[in-house]
Order: sequence, then structure tokens, then C-alpha cells
Amino acid sequence: MTNTASTFGIHEALKTLGIQDKNPGTSTGSQFFASGTVISSYSPVDGALIGKVTGTSAADYDQVMQAAGKAFLEWRQKPAPLRGEVVRQFGNKLRELKEPLGKLVSYEMGKSYQEGLGEVQEMIDICDFAVGLSRQLHGLTMHSERPGHRMYEQYHPLGIVGIISAFNFPVAVWAWNTALAWICGDVCIWKPSEKTPLCGIACQNIIAGVLKDNDLPEGISCLINGDYTVGEMMTQDQRIPLVSATGSIRMGKIVAQAVAARLGKSLLELGGNNAIIVTPDADIKMTIIGAVFGAVGTAGQRCTSTRRLIVHDSIYDQVKEALVAAYQQLRIGNPLDENNHVGPLIDADAVANYSNALKKVVAEGGTILVDGGVLKGEGYESGCYVKPAIAEAKNDFEIVQHETFAPVLYLLKYSGDLKNAIAMQNGVVQGLSSAIMTNNLREAEQFLSANGSDCGIANVNIGTSGAEIGGAFGGEKETGGGRESGSDAWKIYMRRQTNTINYTTDLPLAQGIKFDL
Ligand code: NAD
Repeated sequence: MTNTASTFGIHEALKTLGIQDKNPGTSTGSQFFASGTVISSYSPVDGALIGKVTGTSAADYDQVMQAAGKAFLEWRQKPAPLRGEVVRQFGNKLRELKEPLGKLVSYEMGKSYQEGLGEVQEMIDICDFAVGLSRQLHGLTMHSERPGHRMYEQYHPLGIVGIISAFNFPVAVWAWNTALAWICGDVCIWKPSEKTPLCGIACQNIIAGVLKDNDLPEGISCLINGDYTVGEMMTQDQRIPLVSATGSIRMGKIVAQAVAARLGKSLLELGGNNAIIVTPDADIKMTIIGAVFGAVGTAGQRCTSTRRLIVHDSIYDQVKEALVAAYQQLRIGNPLDENNHVGPLIDADAVANYSNALKKVVAEGGTILVDGGVLKGEGYESGCYVKPAIAEAKNDFEIVQHETFAPVLYLLKYSGDLKNAIAMQNGVVQGLSSAIMTNNLREAEQFLSANGSDCGIANVNIGTSGAEIGGAFGGEKETGGGRESGSDAWKIYMRRQTNTINYTTDLPLAQGIKFDL
């Protein structure tokens, strides 16, 4: 065991979560299959091997599909509040296991322990939300134009939901989908990121226990593991009516085409390029806290991370100075040590992307304001720790137009009216999260109006990251258009049926059409 693992109780956490050195990566509940390619999971925190997971072969996948298909026939007949009761128990189990699961998230993914706990809290919150929803799932009633007729709509379970998730939220994104899908009467098959497979094993162990305690069939929650080729098994499978995919825009474009080719539905949660607009009426202290947390939290590896700060020229120098001073305070190191603000990137590829972005912004004419670099030496042995950097740049630089999944913040200047800042904020292909810092009501409302931000999320006087589960989460344009979590996001997990009932002895046709025999 490494020093990190023993100091921070990782071994105990793994044991509590039922994680072994070698884990079968395909499961329908209490049944396991293990005939695919082995994935080794290394911690970005200290570079240690945490455990191995056997990936899913085509034969394993077939077993999973059969179990899921059978389970759906039973699960869809359970009353929705009863399905909610199972989700309630799952939420309670997560409450019990919050600390070990939060620790595993931190150790396998690299985010801070606090953020790991926060991620598990999000799972608990969505379970609570789903339990209440299980007594609703309401459709509308309408008045029929025909006498003695009644019309209403109802929502039925959809079937098997395929979930493909990214490394950066290795447990919460699954729960956002499953808690809703389960109360809707669907069964789920999850392929976690190949970079965080042990988080997937831990979650499946937790839900499998709950399903077993309730004597429910194999297949309500299934796990498969592997790289994109395993994801493709689901995107190309006609038996899966909905594929919910979270990840890069590149991945989303491939998944969307594969699912659309068989006329399935996809729910896409893809990359962002999020900006905060800072107007002359902004509270600078709040702005700095929001911008720094948004840019360096999770080492810039949130889909909602702040990538661009669009500052009015009248306060540009003041903001710049305060930002540079704040970056000097940042402590970079082991994310399990709560004294540190910034943990590692996920792997060597992510480090290379970060370094390339800094080179590119300079090559395009930008100026480095807070210098980056890869950290070496004691505590940084994994090679994944980098310094958060700030570059002064222009919105139309190619690199600024791209999402670099790392702590690189671009400082951009706007002049004149707010509409110029909004045009810059909207002038990218992504449309996930956006924010404005202002104490001016007119500016805030302009930003939120139809002429304002074109993103799925638009905030006033808070940063771009840190959404609550009560609202629908997702983004527009190349972010994919999907919505998950709160509000009426549940509707995508169900099929809608319009029912018209005639309680007379006549058969009048709609639109007054006559057809007499
Ligand atoms: P990624 O696109 O590399 O991988 C995501 C998942 O897709 C993985 O499980 C991967 O195996 C799978 N995959 C890749 N190609 C596939 C294919 N052709 N068919 C089926 N599955 C395929 O993304 P990542 O590096 O893990 O995550 C970072 C990205 O995710 C960032 O762009 C980030 O913004 C985005 N993200 C978006 C949200 C959101 O809600 N909008 C949330 C989290 C992460």
C-alpha cells in the first residue's frame, strides 16, 4: 500500500465498498461475468495501481441484455411509488457510505475529498427528488372536441436505458440518470469511463445489495466496462430505446449519429466553454471567488468549469490584479489533504493537452499572466499535477474556442455596451453554462433575456459551476441539448401516450368528418 493510501484510509474505503484487487466488470446484480479486456485503474493522486477490472466481451454483453430485458417486464409493473421506495433505500445506503465512496471518487478521479463528498451528496439529493417524483409523473387532461369523449395523456416506462459516463463525475452522473429512470420503470445498463472503473464497481455493489434485500430480479441495474467499443455495443443496439451519454463533443457526435441511425433517442451532455461576464457594476470580491473556484475547482475538469472571463475595460486592470493575487494563494497537491485547493489532472494525456493549450495561446498572440507548468518532486510523483494558469487572450483564438479540460483561464476584455460581452460569451460552439457578475438589474435581466446568454444555464452573481439537482441540467448547441436531473427532465425516460375514450354509443369523427355506412 502507498503512503497516501494508508494515510487517508483508502484501503478501508475499498474494503467497505467491496472492491477487490481484481473485479469482474460485468454484472446484472448478484451475477458477474468477466471475459473481456482487463483495465488497470491507477490513481492520479499518487500513481499507484488501485485495482483491476475485467471488461465486457460481446458474450458478457448479451447476458446483460437478456437479464435487463427480463427484469424490465417485471419492474415496469411495480407501482411507481414502490419503485420510489427502492430508490429511497438506495439513497439511505449512500448516506451510510458517503465517506468511503467520496474517498474513492477523490482517489480514483483526483478531485478534492470535499468535492468527492459533494458528488455523493448529489446522488443522495437526486434519490430524494426521485422518491417524491414517483408519486407524480403526471400527464395532462384535455377537453375533447367530440361529445361524450375524454382525453388525457399518460407516461409509461421506456425500457432499457443505456448510460455512458465521463471520468470527471464518476458516480453522480450515473445516479442522475438511474434514480429517475428507475422510478419511471426503466432498467439501466451503465458503462462508466474506462478511467474510473472502480467507482462503477462500488456503485453497482451498493445498488445490488438494495435490490437483493427487496427480492427484485437480476438486471434492474447492470454494469458493463471497457472503452468506446463497449459503449458502441449499446449505441448500436436496437433493444436500447434511450442512450444517455456524457462526455466530449467528439464522442457525442459519434454517439448521436449511431443512435439516430436506428431512430433511437439520445440524451447528450457534452463539453462546455463557459464564461463569466464581469460588468462595471460587479462586486469584485465575489467575482474573484466565483471565477477562481470555477477555473481551478476539480483542476478545471468540470463540464461547467470557468474557461473565459469577459471583463469590461473600465475594471479590467483591477480584476486582473486581484486574480493574480488570488492565484498566488492556491495550494496544489494531494486532493485527500483538505489543505490543498487543486488536485491532479486525470492522466498524462490530460497533462499534454494542458501544456499544448498554453503553448498554443502564446503562439496565437496571447500573453501568459499566471504561468503554468507541470509539477515535479515529492508529492507530485504521478506526474499529473499542474499549475493553474491564466492567459490574456482574444475570444476568436482557436484555442479559446476549444474546451481544454484543465485549469487554464482566458482573460478577455470587452468595451462599451453589455451586448458586446454577450456576443463574445455566445460566440463559441458550446452552450453549457454562463454567468454575469453585476449589481445592475437592467444588465442582469438583459443577460437572462432572449437576447442574452444562449446557454442551458445562465447565472447571476454566482459562477458557472456548482449546479443544484432541482433544476434541469444541460446545454445547447454542441453541448448536445440534453437535460438531466430536476424539473421535468424525467420525461425523456418515459414514453408518452395520448388516450381518447368514447363513453357514448355514437362514433363521431374528429374535425367533423362524415363517414356513414
Ligand atoms: P470522453 O468523450 O473521452 O468519454 C466519455 C465516455 O464516452 C467514456 O465512457 C467513453 O468510453 C465513451 N465513449 C467514447 N467514445 C465513444 C463512442 N464512439 N461510442 C460510445 N461510447 C464512447 O470524455 P471524458 O474525457 O471522459 O470526459 C470529459 C468530457 O466530458 C468533457 O468534454 C466534459 O465537458 C464532458 N462532460 C460533460 C458533462 C455535461 O453534463 N455536459 C458532464 C461531465 C463531463
